[in-house]
Amino acid sequence: MSINTEYKSDTKEFDIIYRHALKVGDIGICKWNIDNNEIYIAENISGYQLHSVKNMVEFLSSIAYYKDKELAIQDLDDYLKGLTMFYLSTFRIRTEAGEIKWVLIRGKIFKDQVRGDRILHLIMFNVTGNKLHEGHDTITNLINDKFFLRKLKNSTKRSKASNKSGALIYVDIDNLRDIVNNHGLQFRNDFLLHFSQSLNSILSKYYELAKFHDDKFIILIHSFDSIKEVKDLCNKIYDHFKEPFKVVGDQFNINLSLGVTIFPDDSSDADELLKFCDCAINKSKQIGKNVCTFFDKEVSKSYFRETLIESQLANAITNKELYLYYQPKMDILSNKVSGFEVLLRWNNKKIGYVPPNEFIPIAESKGYIVEIGSWVLEETLKTASMWREKGYDFETISINISPLQIKRKDFIAELLDLCRKYGILHSQLEIEITEGTLLGTCKENVGIIDELIENGFNIALDDFGTGYSNLSSLIEYRISTLKIDKSIIDNIENDKNKVVFESIVTLARHLKFKVIAEGVETKGQLDVLAELGCNGIQGYYFSKPLPKNKIEYMLHSLT
Ligand code: C2E
Ligand code: CA
Ligand code: CA
Repeated sequence: MSINTEYKSDTKEFDIIYRHALKVGDIGICKWNIDNNEIYIAENISGYQLHSVKNMVEFLSSIAYYKDKELAIQDLDDYLKGLTMFYLSTFRIRTEAGEIKWVLIRGKIFKDQVRGDRILHLIMFNVTGNKLHEGHDTITNLINDKFFLRKLKNSTKRSKASNKSGALIYVDIDNLRDIVNNHGLQFRNDFLLHFSQSLNSILSKYYELAKFHDDKFIILIHSFDSIKEVKDLCNKIYDHFKEPFKVVGDQFNINLSLGVTIFPDDSSDADELLKFCDCAINKSKQIGKNVCTFFDKEVSKSYFRETLIESQLANAITNKELYLYYQPKMDILSNKVSGFEVLLRWNNKKIGYVPPNEFIPIAESKGYIVEIGSWVLEETLKTASMWREKGYDFETISINISPLQIKRKDFIAELLDLCRKYGILHSQLEIEITEGTLLGTCKENVGIIDELIENGFNIALDDFGTGYSNLSSLIEYRISTLKIDKSIIDNIENDKNKVVFESIVTLARHLKFKVIAEGVETKGQLDVLAELGCNGIQGYYFSKPLPKNKIEYMLHSLT
């Protein structure tokens, strides 16, 4: 707390200036002599008669909205204890007419030069509806992230002192984008406003609901007696939004993901709690949306590993941590190597070896996959060109391409450039994509698959049998290969899977697709596949993925 000594208590001019200022703006003033507890208040924002108020704390208690009272008093307390340079506070007041308004208070202590008393002078601004004001969300009128964070900090502090637990519940509308799409901004705002009001209507008046900038809603339960209270609330939210939700004459089915964290059990740090909540909600989304996840040790472990992978992956190329393995594919009729699938590997100095199934989804979500994919393409073509120079013979080399990569405008140009640079025939390259990627690019009318085929590249459909597996929708595309997923091959000796496989082979033959079985591990599987008319296999039975030198050795012995 710093004390200024400019103030003279006998200067009448100040009072005159204050009175004029009051008339000009939607403001209030207050002068509080801390040492003799005299207070002078002039404000019209709250509408209350405050003659009987004896000190600043009473003044704040009289006007502040009950949910913000504690915070308002704490800001004053912090300043008086010298924790802040100025007295600055923002909170909601409830006016005499029952209206909620936002106010901003600025104040400072001056020393009376005659008597030496400390006098706190403050100005209160009505900032309701002011875009620059930092406390509330203008769409829903709920409090926003910044203000919420302060409340959370208070709440965690209190829970530590009182030995009681509190909770945070993140609420995210899974299908918000689908709902508001094509409707324009006004509808989006109306929808969010209605949703927030509806959600608020089922919350206890002691809970706090806020809207965060990314359209997530968050509920703060300051304290609860039993965890059942939190679980019951989550169920109540799902029940409440089970019925179609009406907005502007339309009805919508709302799907919600929830993420919950408990303090102080999970953490007492407000920022960390928000992160944990986010991480719980991400888990809900991974599980398949419309799910509620409570943050726990497992979620925490996977969260920290994911963040570590994320940070280390950013420099994987520069640190030369990526390398490629190649898995031979075998042609069943000729019993010869027909080509290779390129499989990315990553060995990080901090984490060690990380399997692609773990780091590729993260690379995709962070957008790193585009740069990594380009690296894979160039490395592969460099290697293929070297093998060609050495006179090794192989039909195709297959590369896994992520949807993010293939949808980029410059993908084909990059591919053509690299083929030119390394002298690789387009027909020697096979692009492996999943059925989801194929249908996705077609739906978005990207036209990239047709362009790749027109340029002579081969397209293989990866993991076939796990997704949509809608063969009839594939008729339109001149795909070269269907790669049947390991999950079907694992049980190929069972009659049901045989029938599925046989029908795929029959259709594929009509459509002139080759059929490759993935993950073949035994002679028994190979025999059944050969009998069912499968064209090729890839799997540990024939060969595991191998480093470049081992493949060269294999190619060398074949020539
Ligand atoms: P995928 O494209 O389905 O690759 C086949 C996976 O099955 C490989 O796993 C391979 O090592 C494994 N595999 C092959 N034969 C057998 C077998 O007989 N038994 C068993 N248990 N597994 C077998 P990997 O190398 O761990 O790769 C996992 C996935 O990561 C790949 O699945 C692919 O989706 C993705 N991936 C790998 N490299 C790349 C890449 O360069 N770019 C992109 N976008 N994705 C990649
Ligand atoms: Ca593949
Ligand atoms: Ca596969």
